[in-house]
This record gives sequence, C-alpha cells and structure tokens, in this order.
Amino acid sequence: MPQRVDVVIIGAGTAGLSALRQVRKHTENFVLINAGPYGTTCARNGCMPSKALIEAANLYAQARTLEALGVRGTANLALDSGAVLSHVRALRDHYVQGVLERTCSLGERNVHGTARILGPHAVEVDGLHYESRVIIIATGSRPVIPEPWRALGDRLLTSDDLFELPALPSRLAVIGLGGVGLELAQALARLGVEVYGFEATGLVGGLTDPVVSERAIALFSREFSLHTHVQAELSAHGDGVQVEAGAQRVEVDKVLVALGRTPNTEALNLEALGLALDDKGLPPFNPETLQVGGLPVFIAGDVNAYRPLLHEAADEGYIAGCNAMCEPHQTFARRTPLMICFSTPNIARAGAPFTAMHTNSVVTGAADFDGQGRALMSGRDHGCLRVYADATSGRLLGAEMCIPDGEHIGHLLAWSIQQCLTLCDLLEMPYYHPTIEEGLRTAVRTTSKQLDTGPSASRGRACDRLPVKGLD
Ligand SMILES: Cc1cc2nc3c(=O)[nH]c(=O)nc-3n(C[C@H](O)[C@H](O)[C@H](O)COP(=O)(O)OP(=O)(O)OC[C@H]3O[C@@H](n4cnc5c(N)ncnc54)[C@H](O)[C@@H]3O)c2cc1C
Repeated sequence: MPQRVDVVIIGAGTAGLSALRQVRKHTENFVLINAGPYGTTCARNGCMPSKALIEAANLYAQARTLEALGVRGTANLALDSGAVLSHVRALRDHYVQGVLERTCSLGERNVHGTARILGPHAVEVDGLHYESRVIIIATGSRPVIPEPWRALGDRLLTSDDLFELPALPSRLAVIGLGGVGLELAQALARLGVEVYGFEATGLVGGLTDPVVSERAIALFSREFSLHTHVQAELSAHGDGVQVEAGAQRVEVDKVLVALGRTPNTEALNLEALGLALDDKGLPPFNPETLQVGGLPVFIAGDVNAYRPLLHEAADEGYIAGCNAMCEPHQTFARRTPLMICFSTPNIARAGAPFTAMHTNSVVTGAADFDGQGRALMSGRDHGCLRVYADATSGRLLGAEMCIPDGEHIGHLLAWSIQQCLTLCDLLEMPYYHPTIEEGLRTAVRTTSKQLDTGPSASRGRACDRLPVKGLD
C-alpha cells in the first residue's frame, strides 16, 4: 500500500528546502526525498567553496602588490595550496552544517534515495511508494562532461571534486569560460597554478555583449593563457592530458571541465507525467507559477534550467511551495535578472541581456574604467560598463560590465531596472566623490546623450525633471 502524503518534495537543495519551508506552514504530512549528499550544491560544491577559494586567491594576489606601496618583505610570501584547500573545506563544512540542521529533525519524512515518478500523484523510492496530492521536483543539475572524456578518469575535474583535492596541480586546463570556469581559472592562476583557459565562443563570464567581453578577455589574458573561438580536444599523455585547441597544444596535469550544467532529470522518469518533453528532457512549465502543464506538479531550481542561480532557486522553491498548498495557483512576478561572476574585475549583467536589445529602439552608452579616479587608487582602474535604455522613454533596460565592484554596481542597476527608473532618474541621484559609482554616472550620461533624436530634440527632453539644467 502506498503511503498517502500531501506533498512529495524531490531534492533537498536550495529550491527543495525553500519549498519545504512554505509547505510546512500548512501541513506536516510530507516527505522529502534526496539522492546524493545533503547540504545543497550552493554550500557543498558551488557558490560558497568557490567564493572561499577566490577570496584566498585575491588576498594572496593583493599581498604581492604591496611592495610597490612601500610594504617590504612580501617577496618572501609562499603558498601552501593544500592548506588553502583545507581552509576552503573548513568554511564549506561550516555552511553545510547550517543546512544539515534543517533536514536532520525530519525523521522518517526525510528519505535518502533516488526518486522515480510513476504518475502525477505517485512517487517511488527504493521500493517505498507514496501517493501524493502534489509533487515538487527540485533535483538540481550536474556538470556536463562529454562522454569520450570520461576515460581520462581522475585527470578530469569538475567543480564537484576540485575542492576535494589534497593540493592544487601545477598545470591545469579549464575548458569552458562561462561564469564558473572564468572565476575559477583566474583564482587558480592567482594561486600559482599554470592555467590554460579555452572557450568555444567569444563570450566569457556569462556576458552577452561582445564589446564588454572583448575587454574582459584582454584583461584576463594578462593573468593566464586564454584562448577563445576554439574547440578543445583532450587525450591522455603520460600521467597528464594533452589539450589541442586550434593552433594550441599544451600538456597539463589536470583538466577542469566547466562546460555548463545539465538538469537532473534522467532518473525521474518524467515520461510518466504524460507530457511531451523538450530536448533537455523537460516538461512544459509556467515560470510564474512553476506548475508543470496543468498537473499537480511543480518544478523549481536548476532542474528547470530557467535561471540556474542561487537566489532564483530559493525564489522558485518559495513559489512552488506556496502553489503546492493553494488553489487557484498564484502568479508571481519574477525579479529583474541579475548575474554576477566573481572574477576580478567583477563581471555582471543586470536586466535584459545585450542579445535581447533591438538596435532601432535602444540606445547604448558606456564608461571606460581605465584611469577612473577611485579605481586608480587601488590599481583597479580596468574594464568597461555598457548601459542599454529605451530610446523613446529613456527607461533603463539592461547593463553588462566588467569593472571593479561590478557586483555592487550590478545590484544598483538591477534594482533601478526593477523600479522602472529612467536615465533621468539615475542622474538625479547623488554620487559621492571619489567613488566607483562616478563611473556608473559617466555611463548613464553617455547613454542619456544618445536620446537626442532630431534637431528639435534636446537632451533636456529626457531629463526635463532635473532641478538645475546641466546638473546631469
Ligand atoms: C561552482 C559553482 C559556483 C556557483 N556560484 C554561484 C554563485 O556565486 N551565485 C549563484 O547565484 N549561483 C551560483 N551557483 C549556482 C547555484 O549553486 C545553483 O543555482 C543552486 O545551488 C541550485 O539549487 P537547486 O536547489 O536547484 O539544486 P541542488 O542544491 O543541487 O539540489 C538538488 C538536490 O536534488 C538531489 N537529486 C537529484 N536527483 C534526484 C532524484 N532523482 N531523487 C532525489 N533527489 C535527487 C541532488 O542530489 C541534490 O541534493 C554556482 C554553482 C556552481 C556549481
């Protein structure tokens, strides 16, 4: 006999645990099924350990620049990469422990195993059967590894095992320079690894704007050997790996595969839902309700591949958890898109990507951070910011950047976009001196100047609310 429950949640990651919090406001008759280790991808091998490694790398890199400021003795600094990785794991364990506390009190309602869906109300795990009013799918994603490369065994790394290494390799190739690949490639180079980065496109760090990406590539090429528009081929070579990519041929000890992630759907048997699946094996779902087709099934977090980021997984868990418990289902407005790559300079994207801009109705402005006053003081005056706005209303639509403190400027711009602010609104705000935000003002000003559409149109048309003409 199947056990009857109100809700089955599949996956105890960020999305699943966020859904659980909402579900528990209404019922204690649920089951949470999780395959693999507990603790969430974010805390165990995603956001948190990667940022801990990046922080260590940045501090070490900065320390080596102190000589020029008159600080003596830094030439004698030495790096113990095993100790760095132990430090990263200690921090990782701290974050994981915080998450485990949320599942360890669930008793029999916490089931460890791989869930298989048998129908819109039926789930099976290791011979246990559940009949559920609602199912929430939150099974996350895993790194993509091309099948032929698997023969390289432990010479191949992903973000799942990088942080488990006893020490860093001497020579490493990073294949794929999206957000995860780029930030790790730079951090490892800063920690003394001889890094070779390969990217099939001309876009790095999650950017879609080729102008910003070109700038970013030039900057990161100063720190490690970086090759774009190349397809890397791998083959075993002695104890290491030979990488061939275009005219490049290098031998390395290990390869970090950072080709993106694929939804964890195979084991779920989604065909049992009776809906057509797309080429990723995903059923149709509504991103504002997260309902799958018209079924009592919801899909949240990386598994739906809609916005595979931590804050979005938490939001989606919330939406799925709320809608699992209410009829009619509520439609939730999604937040303005925001993506950050924690490279130095930071890469960020706020609002709609450059690729979604239609040149006829959009104006673009930019700021160059070479020589930017505040950034120059800390030797960080590199990069550029591009801002996109509606050509008629001046409303801010999006921005892409590779600039110092881009993580903060990205937030300011995402918040402004969500508030439907115009370039004029942004120019009315105060800008303290000397700050990185002054660079943002330059970008907004140059964009605002593009709003002139004809001889009779003045810049004041877009900024006629400014209290004093010329203050923009
Ligand atoms: C290296 C790295 C760095 C990152 N950095 C950032 C960052 O800086 N900022 C950011 O916003 N995002 C970052 N991310 C992305 C972020 O970590 C993810 O978006 C987020 O963790 C996804 O959460 P989730 O709940 O969807 O999946 P997960 O946390 O992966 O949870 C899914 C769970 O489902 C389980 N499961 C899978 N299949 C089954 C099954 N059939 N039955 C039962 N259980 C199953 C899995 O074992 C897992 O425990 C990073 C990711 C990586 C890999």
